[in-house]
Amino acid sequence: MTLPQTVAFTRNSANIFFHILTQCNLKCRHCYINPVQHGQNTLPLSTIQAWLEAFSENSHTKNLIFLGGEPTLHPELPAAIRHARRLGFGSITVDTNGYLFHDILDKLYPGEVEVFSFSLDGATCETNDRIRGDGTFDTCVAGIREAVSKGFDTSLIYTVSSANINELEEMFPLMKNLGVGRFFIQIIGLRGRSASQKSDTASEGILQIERRKWLDTVPRIARMIAESGITVSYPKVFLKPDEKFECAGLVADNYFIFPNGRVYRCPLCEDFPIHSLAFKENQLVPAAKLNESDFFQLNIPEGCVMNKLIQPQNLSYRKDGTPEYKIACCLLKEEVKLE
Ligand code: SF4
Ligand code: SF4
Repeated sequence: MTLPQTVAFTRNSANIFFHILTQCNLKCRHCYINPVQHGQNTLPLSTIQAWLEAFSENSHTKNLIFLGGEPTLHPELPAAIRHARRLGFGSITVDTNGYLFHDILDKLYPGEVEVFSFSLDGATCETNDRIRGDGTFDTCVAGIREAVSKGFDTSLIYTVSSANINELEEMFPLMKNLGVGRFFIQIIGLRGRSASQKSDTASEGILQIERRKWLDTVPRIARMIAESGITVSYPKVFLKPDEKFECAGLVADNYFIFPNGRVYRCPLCEDFPIHSLAFKENQLVPAAKLNESDFFQLNIPEGCVMNKLIQPQNLSYRKDGTPEYKIACCLLKEEVKLE
């Protein structure tokens, strides 16, 4: 029996998304990395260690996710992971495109990383490689097989757009065959490359998903996959009339750290210089006002303020001007697993 459960926001634990570099070997069409806003530098190990230490209080309640760019391009990622282990973080995840540079799997033991999280955007070479680049499907699949064979837990991230929603269901046999334990479905947004190349991405057939299509497809397939024992998460996106809107910036603890020292609390704010915190001389300090924290306070009938500002096409209004539904915080997830 599987029923989607909304994962309630909490301040009893924190998620720290640490982009240790923005460099990547790929150029995925929906990439949200924005070097102008996020920096182009690769953090030295000493800086990574110092910034991790800034988050080390109650570290056992904090989930740490290393990402980039492609984090395995950083030759000292294993040392950074070991430092995080010593500091006692509750869990450590590495998000990777599957290229697994610097023989990362040979330099770590399964107990040192909870999960390697791989990204695929299609169940076939044709669809995935059109979005992520030639050869990426085969390389990522080989990377998953290698990680599983070496005893690492793996998860898979799939960013749903109109270019690949028709292959979402086909991810099930692929994941079963590979031995992937967890499936994270994301929704494409208008950020980074998707925003700056809107017309190009549209002509390539990568578009945002209509509300009806999302609601008719994603929850159904998530439940079908979860029946097999793979835990599935997907963003809630649209709130029902009786569901309460909450902004994670006010009621949860998420930190998105970039190599230029900016620290955001909201991913939708990352394309603007409105971060609420920053590292200065390795100390985490509040950033100048106005910043994203001022937006979190605004209470509007459409739900998420940042959604209204940067992707208002998600909204729909009645004749009297009231919104037909609210847009949930982009960090609000539904989780489906076998009970
Ligand atoms: S692998 Fe990730 S960081 Fe690299 S281009 Fe693709 S989406 Fe961007
Ligand atoms: S996505 Fe919207 S609701 Fe969520 S933290 Fe950002 S501003 Fe708040």
